[in-house]
Amino acid sequence: MATKRISEKQIDAAIAGLRELAHNLWWSWSPSAQQIFQELSPFFWEHSNHNPVEVMNWISGTELRGRLKDSEFFEHVNAVCATFRSYLNEKSTWAAKNAASLKKAPVAYFSAEFGLHESLRIYSGGLGILSGDHAKSASDLGLPFVGISLFYRNGYFSQQISNDGWQQELYPLYDPLKLPLSLVKDKRGNAVVCSVQIGGTLVYFQAWAVHVGRVNVYLLDTNLPQNDDRSREITAHVYGGDQSTRIAQEVILGIGGVRMLRAIGITPSVFHMNEGHSAFLTLELLREQIVAKRPIEKAQEFVKSRCVFTTHTPVPAGHDRFSRDLMNASFNRYVEGLGIDVEALMGYGRIRPADINETFCMTVLALKMSRDANGVSELHGKTSVQMWKDLYPTWTKKEDPIGAITNGVHINGWASPSASQWWSRQLGEHWYEHIRDANYWKRAIESNKISDQDLWALRTTLRRELVEFARKRLREQHLRHGGDGIGVYEKMLSPDVLTVGFARRFATYKRAPLFFRDMDWAIRMLNSADRPVQLIFAGKAHPRDDAGKHFIQEIINMTKRLDLFGKVMFIENYDINVARYLVSGADVWLNTPRRPMEACGTSGEKTILHGGLNVSTMDGWWREAYDGKNGWQVGEDSTAPTEREQDDKDAYSLRTVLETDVLPLFYDRGKDGIPHKWLKRVRHSMASLIPIYNTDRMVVDYTKKYYLPKKR
Ligand SMILES: *Cc1c(COP(=O)(O)O)cnc(C)c1O
Repeated sequence: MATKRISEKQIDAAIAGLRELAHNLWWSWSPSAQQIFQELSPFFWEHSNHNPVEVMNWISGTELRGRLKDSEFFEHVNAVCATFRSYLNEKSTWAAKNAASLKKAPVAYFSAEFGLHESLRIYSGGLGILSGDHAKSASDLGLPFVGISLFYRNGYFSQQISNDGWQQELYPLYDPLKLPLSLVKDKRGNAVVCSVQIGGTLVYFQAWAVHVGRVNVYLLDTNLPQNDDRSREITAHVYGGDQSTRIAQEVILGIGGVRMLRAIGITPSVFHMNEGHSAFLTLELLREQIVAKRPIEKAQEFVKSRCVFTTHTPVPAGHDRFSRDLMNASFNRYVEGLGIDVEALMGYGRIRPADINETFCMTVLALKMSRDANGVSELHGKTSVQMWKDLYPTWTKKEDPIGAITNGVHINGWASPSASQWWSRQLGEHWYEHIRDANYWKRAIESNKISDQDLWALRTTLRRELVEFARKRLREQHLRHGGDGIGVYEKMLSPDVLTVGFARRFATYKRAPLFFRDMDWAIRMLNSADRPVQLIFAGKAHPRDDAGKHFIQEIINMTKRLDLFGKVMFIENYDINVARYLVSGADVWLNTPRRPMEACGTSGEKTILHGGLNVSTMDGWWREAYDGKNGWQVGEDSTAPTEREQDDKDAYSLRTVLETDVLPLFYDRGKDGIPHKWLKRVRHSMASLIPIYNTDRMVVDYTKKYYLPKKR
């Protein structure tokens, strides 16, 4: 075989290409790009939690040049870089055709967290994951879009479970140079630094840009030498510290975010507040109008015409409230620019502006100052209207003041590498381009193009990969606790047993221990000789949520019971990587929120492409997605008078569904060992749900309904 000589110049170009690739999270939804970095150093790829920037820093220049002389590797790098470049330069995107008016004035999307990848831990849970997926789909659709958030250099905590089952929180320190971040600089190469007044202190901040395909997310950072120590700490932790840190973070995010956009010359046509944390941005927009000499009424109308708001939780504690004292301490100077006093400012965050007993609520501010507002599923939209109806005394029930757009997931980013390759083999390389096309999926899945053998092979691969991953994690935990890490782990979990996954924040309304409400039943199910089931859990409790930590401890105690040995497992440190293994490996995705507390829930949506089936209470997305044949329903589509009653009823329903429907169907095998009837349900789940519960559909909905100027 004649090998072509690769010139030094070609190698220079390839290295430049790799560096650019490492600094654009596009690679996180391109398996062939990830393969490059993994191949460079499989060890460091794992060690860095899949971080190409760290892999590139780790491999010496000499080694890299040498490796690129291998023509096969060189060709692979070149092909990926070419695909990446053509993605960046694509002209005929969905938005180019359907949202051209946003080109000069993009959508600015503010969110306190962005879950973009496991190596960039600036997210805590579902809200962050949603923002990350929103940005990725905005990129795929070619939507003119910028994200604004904070750079948390201590991130969200890493979770370790102590020997007695209690959650420990560790805060690593992240070095921006080891992350896919670039400091935002002006034309002369100096960092762009802005400031905001918080009480008596002028706080300075800079911004780090994260490239997410075609769009940028800007992360604001107060860790600057010109700030005092307290101010430097403002952006250190995700939702860290006390109320005064919290309000300072929200001032930086909202007010600081607008100032940074102005400083870098971006003029958005729409400001999308993803949750109330960023609602102070409306005050800054108002201040700009007042400085421009607009009368306050006109100024308010103008701000309102530019803002849209998405609320994310019916849990009252999930809505930030600040006392008058704290508002005064933070805004006493800022209000001068608005030409009002603190008492008048309080009115913006109160349902009844003059009620001095009301605290300042960020959700109220956001609702008052937005042209449109929405919840994240149909039920959540309705629940939110009820929750905030006092704000709408003239509401006539004709048109809800708070609408609904159901959340989705960025399916390409969630597909496990094995699943992604499997779909490419089944449907061709370009399957993802049809993600919103219901007919495409119906044809592809319900025709006999994909055989049951192939589908079952996919399930078997994904389940085995999860079991291996869980065992590896358990071994690490065992070693940390002083064990020898050998022996029993080979007997933990089975690659052939019906695997139930449960992973999410350990908020108590999600009811992680519901399966164990009748312990005798649970023991019988888990130890069944002919129809066994195994459970894998993961999730973090908020550092201040002791009730959630007790739930974790309860699950840990289950994993330690001798009569359940090897059947129940808890994987530490839930993150995007753990989530990907779980949503792909589980046959059944269990979701048991106490209705109607789960605004949407998205983890179940990640399982669909992998052939997992949802078993869920009638809350959030599942309430509108379930059609009787694409998974299973737990409990009624109603809410019981007491929590206790609701829990008993739902637990009973869960036991019945699992025992009479789920387990028998999974173990009903043909002569070939394949559960054909189970797979029929899997096919129906895929065909009916993939084209809807994805963020491409969701971002298109946002664009048509809320981002584009209203046709009047
Ligand atoms: C998807 C996901 C969530 C959100 O899960 P819900 O089902 O909406 O609770 C939270 N954390 C991580 C790491 C996720 O991947």
